[in-house]
Amino acid sequence: MSHTAELIAVGTELLLGNIANTNAQDLSQALSAVGVNVFWHTVVGDNPARLKEALEIARKRADVIITTGGLGPTYDDLTKQTICETFGQKLVFHPEILEEIRVFFEEKAHIPMPANNRQQAELPEGCVIFDNPVGTAPGCAFEVDGIHVLMLPGPPFEMLTMLRRCVIPYLRSISDEVILSHDIMTFGLGESPMEELLRDKMERMENPSLATYAKPSEVRLRATAKAHSVEEAEAMLAPVVEEITAFLGDVVYGVDVPGLEDVCVRMLKERGWTMATAESCTGGRIAERLTALAGVSSVYRGGVVSYWTDVKRDVLGVPQELLAAHGAVSEECARAMAEGACRITGAEVAVSVTGVAGPDPDERGTPVGIVYIGLATPEGTFCRKLDLGKRRRDRIQDLATNHAFDVVRRYLSGLSVEKAKR
Ligand code: ATP
Ligand code: MG
Repeated sequence: MSHTAELIAVGTELLLGNIANTNAQDLSQALSAVGVNVFWHTVVGDNPARLKEALEIARKRADVIITTGGLGPTYDDLTKQTICETFGQKLVFHPEILEEIRVFFEEKAHIPMPANNRQQAELPEGCVIFDNPVGTAPGCAFEVDGIHVLMLPGPPFEMLTMLRRCVIPYLRSISDEVILSHDIMTFGLGESPMEELLRDKMERMENPSLATYAKPSEVRLRATAKAHSVEEAEAMLAPVVEEITAFLGDVVYGVDVPGLEDVCVRMLKERGWTMATAESCTGGRIAERLTALAGVSSVYRGGVVSYWTDVKRDVLGVPQELLAAHGAVSEECARAMAEGACRITGAEVAVSVTGVAGPDPDERGTPVGIVYIGLATPEGTFCRKLDLGKRRRDRIQDLATNHAFDVVRRYLSGLSVEKAKR
């Protein structure tokens, strides 16, 4: 039987727009992954009467109700009391939980435990306790009349820790279904052309199903199977992933990989090669994404943010005559920047970006969105010209960064890099 969930976030701050309801987002993602249908998100302030009203509505239409927030020790933390009143549950004091809270305060935070934390050690009679190793308020779950009520703390880090450690296992234990997904990551084909290409297949597929999710210039295709066991779900997914990957060809850069940069780094490691960067209009975004990856130091030597023409000339060694003849936003300059980055760092490959991120054209009148990606390699230097059109500056920078990684990834895969597929 599949379950239907309603998430109730408790907090006046959410209603005032002071914070975003990230707990609902994180919970929804996790629930869909374990096969629980989330049909409603509710947000209610720190007000017992309105919370009670929300709970009364939820119990009529959902059989899993998950609340976040309001489990703390202060006067506005009323979730537990209100839930227990609504569902006729008695609160029971747990001395062992009070002891854990005391240890958290005195031994981890080195402060005395405030007296009002005692109420956090009171939980509904007979509930499943979700301990909170990163905070004080434990969460819990109980079942009444076939409805599972779960209470989780508000702070996102505490909520996420409890979600992973306790909530997912709890939901798995009440469900006889497994939901499993694989993500086919693609670059270079927009969401609409992708859907056009795959429409027939997507319409025919029910289990596994196929859905598209767009990121800047990337489309993630998610194949999802519902089954009774992980093995069964994997067996259903394998031929689908294989078929779609073969059908789409080289726009697919990986399955279940986080991003293009991860693929580039993996391929460089396999070859024992290193890379460098020379960035103008992306201002270090390529370097930033590379250095966000743990263990990248064996592959990434470094880079130059050569924003001024003088820096392109004096640091990267782009010839003055070349700059005078073609300008800094040119194929010639992109090539020379990449070659310069290889020369000064000793890396086997270097990628460069020079372009016009806007909002105005450059001094030679090159329009916004024109970007050149250079790639210096042991086999010669390549260049991809992009016309990204008049978009927001940060969008152009992100797109150009993605294209730079795509150029590296295609080269290392033995594919042509010069033209981006549209
Ligand atoms: P505490 O013990 O910290 O009081 P709590 O369980 O009582 O925890 P709240 O007091 O409701 O939780 O919220 C604590 C903080 O957690 C809020 O100030 C807010 O920063 C964050 N928070 C609460 N609910 C959400 C939510 N739905 N999404 C994102 N952040 C949230
Ligand atoms: Mg609180």
